[in-house]
Amino acid sequence: MSPSELLRSRIVDVLDFPTPGVVFKDISPLLADHDAFSAAVDAVVAHHVDHGVDKVVGIEARGFILAAPAAYRLGAGFVPVRKPGKLPGPTHETAYALEYGQNVLQVHRDAFSPGDRVLVVDDVLATGGTAAAAARLVQAAGAEVVGFSVLLELGFLSGSAALAAEHPGIPVHALLAY
Ligand code: AMP
Repeated sequence: MSPSELLRSRIVDVLDFPTPGVVFKDISPLLADHDAFSAAVDAVVAHHVDHGVDKVVGIEARGFILAAPAAYRLGAGFVPVRKPGKLPGPTHETAYALEYGQNVLQVHRDAFSPGDRVLVVDDVLATGGTAAAAARLVQAAGAEVVGFSVLLELGFLSGSAALAAEHPGIPVHALLAY
């Protein structure tokens, strides 16, 4: 089995979760399988090892799981982008629209050194709103986003195009496309 076949075999579709009509991509079986989890982290690292990454941003919550080992392996720092009320220090925050209502994300204002090269990591790229918001926070904090990396991209939701519209020229790397 190729690495991508292994990853695909460990992602489970859960119908109507968390709300009716959504097909949730559950990565729990992948995370629980050492071979699959390490293949995923290795692939993120291999793709970005020569990109001069100073910090890896993980987006709460599943983004943390991939971003932290990738940061360790890349010799970079890890920075969490979190939901409101979780970070104790002064923050930048940004809101973005969901189908119903909105989400807010925050990052510590002092999370980056000026000019840090930052890789933004999450599990799933759907509409791209979450990743775009994380990139706004990185830029507001004075750093440069040099790439987006996701385990899987839901191509039919055009997240890559949405990211390119708001953050042109920043590459999106997806290990799997659906
Ligand atoms: P979006 O902002 O639309 O790109 O949504 C991406 C965020 O929502 C990521 O943090 C994902 O964890 C989560 N997400 C969206 N759609 C799904 C899905 N079908 N399965 C699992 N997670 C999802």
